[in-house]
This record gives sequence, C-alpha cells and structure tokens, in this order.
Amino acid sequence: MSDCERCGRKARLQLVEIEGARMYVCPDCTRFGNLVKVDQPSSPPTTMVTRPRTERTPKPDALTKRTRELAEDYPRRIQRAREKKGWSREDLGRKLNERVSIITKLENGEMHPPDSLIKKLERTLEVKLMEDVEEVHVTADAGSRGMTLADFIVYKDR
Ligand SMILES: [Zn+2]
Repeated sequence: MSDCERCGRKARLQLVEIEGARMYVCPDCTRFGNLVKVDQPSSPPTTMVTRPRTERTPKPDALTKRTRELAEDYPRRIQRAREKKGWSREDLGRKLNERVSIITKLENGEMHPPDSLIKKLERTLEVKLMEDVEEVHVTADAGSRGMTLADFIVYKDR
C-alpha cells in the first residue's frame, strides 16, 4: 500500500497515463486516465486522452458536403408564391432586377438559378426554395476517441 499520486489516498496502486503523464494512482483515480500495461513498458502510447484538433481533421473537405439543395419543385414554388402576391412575371422581374425571360425560364424549370438568384427569390417572394438535407458524418475511428460536434453535423428543417 502506498499513496495515490493523484488524490493521496493509500491504496493498491496502478500505473495510468493521464494527459500524457504516467503516474501511480488508486483504483478510483484510474478512470481519469488510460491504464498502462506494465508488462509492455516499451510499447509507445497509442491511445491519448486528448489529441490536437488539427491532427484529428486531416481532410476538412470530407465534412463540407452540400447540406442544402434546391427543391425539386422550385418552378411551382416560385409561380405559386408570385401569384399569391398578385404579381405578374413582369412585376417579379422588375423587383428582382432580372429579365422577364429569366422568370419564365425559372417557372418552366428550364433554368437552374444560381445561389445569388435563389436568395433574391426567397427574400422577395418570402418562399423557401432550398431544402435542408440531413447529413451525418461519422468517421471509422470515432468510437475510439469520442464523438465531437465536428463529426456529427445534422441540419434539420426549422
Ligand atoms: Zn486516487
């Protein structure tokens, strides 16, 4: 029996690694670190309690997939919203500073509007044209180092 290096209690001590430092602690304190196998003193520490943030996101683009998409029925949404406001295609074109032919193409689904135009349409018509897509990214070794917010991105409808 000797003193626990963490809490000072007298107990049968075990060697653990806490935040990179090895120390002998009582059974209660072993949960604060990783048990070190004393029969393999030469093995390098393969499991760390904490890892630098930069090290655990080697491929940031893996998490930046598109999470919002243009709704399939956007032509109908545009037309319905416009008619609800009592606007003609000419009216809408004037408000958006776009040609009428653009509005016609949009409502016929003949044109995939760029993001900037989608935002203008949503704002002007007070309609939602984008749909939230739920994506969950879980990397293969997530369980061994614990989940973080970066691993688990969920977008839901407001
Ligand atoms: Zn202790």
